[in-house]
Amino acid sequence: MDAEAKLALVADQMHLEPAEEVAPAPTSLRSPHAVAACGHSPAELRAAVEAGVVETLTNGNGNPGRSLEAKKNSLGIYNAAMPGGKRMPFLKTMLTSACERDCYYCPFRAGRDYRRATFKPDEMATVFHQMFKGGLAQGLFLSSGIAGGGMRTQDKLIAVAEILRRKFNYSGYLHLKIMPGAERDQVWRAMQFADRISINLEAPNAERLSSLAPRKVFFEELLRPLQWAEEIRQTQPAHRTYNGRWPSTVTQFVVGGAGESDLEILSTTAYLTRQLRLARSYFSAFSPVPDTPLENHAPENPWREHRLYQASFLFRDYGFDLEDMPFDAKGTLPLDVDPKLAWARANLAETPIEINRADRRDLLRVPGVGPKGADSIIAARRRGRLRDLRDLQKIGVLAARAAPFILIDGRQPVRQLALW
Ligand code: SF4
Repeated sequence: MDAEAKLALVADQMHLEPAEEVAPAPTSLRSPHAVAACGHSPAELRAAVEAGVVETLTNGNGNPGRSLEAKKNSLGIYNAAMPGGKRMPFLKTMLTSACERDCYYCPFRAGRDYRRATFKPDEMATVFHQMFKGGLAQGLFLSSGIAGGGMRTQDKLIAVAEILRRKFNYSGYLHLKIMPGAERDQVWRAMQFADRISINLEAPNAERLSSLAPRKVFFEELLRPLQWAEEIRQTQPAHRTYNGRWPSTVTQFVVGGAGESDLEILSTTAYLTRQLRLARSYFSAFSPVPDTPLENHAPENPWREHRLYQASFLFRDYGFDLEDMPFDAKGTLPLDVDPKLAWARANLAETPIEINRADRRDLLRVPGVGPKGADSIIAARRRGRLRDLRDLQKIGVLAARAAPFILIDGRQPVRQLALW
């Protein structure tokens, strides 16, 4: 099987694995291939042909654009939103789609009747480097099924990274997966070459994980490597990494596959964000895969995934704590309102925040005010007092959303809002 056929086989199931491309919007609002809507130019088309990834410049309809886009989709190239907001085409693939584990939700689980593909490390590095040189992909997210144990598989992933960095002098973006069972030294080596590493917890605690992936060991195999990554960042100099910076760390949860509550997921997320400085937790609403033990389990409401993203951003960027979350008695977030608005309705309706005096922490509690908006308000106040909702609107605040929860020079702007 040639490299292109292998990439296509793996790509068929890779949309189930969130990476940098995922926007925090309910998956029901995205088509399965919405993340793969790559823009491309005639120069890219020529590069694709030269790289041998696309055979001709046109399809049968004389429509070269659709031909290349479909080709990119089929190989696992997605238009990714990178940390910092930059967008770029990104190959998301696996070193092997064979796996000796049997996680209940996973399309790659052992024993499932599915055609597998395996790359050797130098083959994977070479094919990606060709795509990179041809302008088809500017970044790589590399995961793998487990074959021959987590340590052996991790060594192969690290080998791909080492070939790319040392042999091909690749200096682009690399997101490398850490395998369950990898050792501390392997995490350290992966961190030498990667811009981001990830270890998927899948569930918020050991008990819930046993319902999803009974052969994974929550603390020793999954949480411990996340702790090692932070210990390494804290205690060792970064000058031995390829670019002098330690990579960021992320994780993923399967949401709604194990009967877990939002409180359980967000308790673990808060710990990861505060104690281990994870850049981000990804949430993937459970969706049953045919021919797996959970194939008859109901799919999770994608709005739950969306609310969990919003709550996690409140921890990471807005200074909210777990106690601020509007859980009900069962530890569930409301689906019909975002958690920040729910908090504001309960806490700010009677005691609105004075926009001309509030500190940054309080400004961030106001719906419609994000980190940039809070900084803009503080900067604008140095130039003069803010007088009405138009002043807020001009500096990028969602004034109508903020209006019920603020005072401007001691006056509630809600009445003014009605005049708008
Ligand atoms: S170890 Fe990973 S690839 Fe293997 S079955 Fe579990 S989730 Fe799937």
